[in-house]
Amino acid sequence: MSAPLIDPFQRAIRYLRVSVTDRCDFRCVYCMSEEMTFLPKKELLSLEELDRMCSAFIRLGVEKLRITGGEPLVRRDIMTFFRGMRRHLDSGALKELTLTTNGSQLSRFAAELYDCGVRRVNVSLDTLDGAKFAKITRWGRLHQVIDGIEAAKAAGLKVKINAVALKGVNDSELFDLVDWAGAEGHDMTFIEVMPMGDIGNEDRLDQYWPLTDLRAQLATRYTLTDLAERSGGPARYVRIEQTGQKIGFITPLSHNFCESCNRVRITCTGEIYTCLGQEGHSDLRGPLRAADDDAALETAIRAAIGLKPKGHDFDYSRQIVGGKMSRHMSHTGG
Ligand code: SAM
Ligand code: SF4
Repeated sequence: MSAPLIDPFQRAIRYLRVSVTDRCDFRCVYCMSEEMTFLPKKELLSLEELDRMCSAFIRLGVEKLRITGGEPLVRRDIMTFFRGMRRHLDSGALKELTLTTNGSQLSRFAAELYDCGVRRVNVSLDTLDGAKFAKITRWGRLHQVIDGIEAAKAAGLKVKINAVALKGVNDSELFDLVDWAGAEGHDMTFIEVMPMGDIGNEDRLDQYWPLTDLRAQLATRYTLTDLAERSGGPARYVRIEQTGQKIGFITPLSHNFCESCNRVRITCTGEIYTCLGQEGHSDLRGPLRAADDDAALETAIRAAIGLKPKGHDFDYSRQIVGGKMSRHMSHTGG
């Protein structure tokens, strides 16, 4: 293995999130506008290029790989990529291969994912109410996702539910969601809505439901115990004593996790973002395509990691919404 990736603040980079497509079969109101223009195919990294890119990072010390999008499971032949990554799990270099999905295609792919070495999936689900679900996702149907989650469980995949906390939308359902997840054996993570991308007229300040409030509401019904466990990312965890269930809170607008940040993101066009909350990025597709060997790519990766900022810069208090970050979550993959 080559020398590991260490950023200027002495953080070792162990976690890579890769967006494999900007496309999606849903149009969630907080993520996309209804009329999205997607990238031309030639802009995207091919499946072979994705393999080379991820393999280079693994060689440089990445141990955890999360595949995302857009919706990763709508990328054509994406299973070829997952199958390829299995060799890194088998060699022990890669400790975990996971994905974040809207669940719509899990009925089709859950068993194959398991076969490729995936053991855990994050499924995004904000509500258990069919009408609300259709409204949030615009194009999705709740039963697709519920069926997908069932299939994942049946295939032996551990499912974690990700829900975006939306004031006036799923706040009234908090206990229903947590109780359902608990009964099904799924951990849950709540995410604060982030100011990403231009998504039309939605007013995200209106939807903003601080997780401190959500947590306080949970504490009216359950005994919550803080867990020391940190993922190196923006999540903090509690255990619900009554059920043993683990609940995560992702508050990306706070700076409290930057010092332990061990992750970087690659977009589906091969740009590397070393901080979710900053625009700074570097191109890795050029160096990847420039040669058949990975020397230029490795140099470009090291240069990009050398620019990883100390922390990020979101701020709702400045009242800037809907495009504080000009890119969409579907671009960097959340
Ligand atoms: N399509 C997959 C899915 O929905 O899980 C993967 C990509 S999606 C961009 C990753 C995560 O980002 C999802 O859990 C989604 O709910 C979340 N997300 C999207 N836009 C967001 C926003 N503006 N604020 C907070 N979370 C957001
Ligand atoms: Fe698609 Fe995921 Fe964005 Fe929803 S959050 S539109 S499912 S990429």
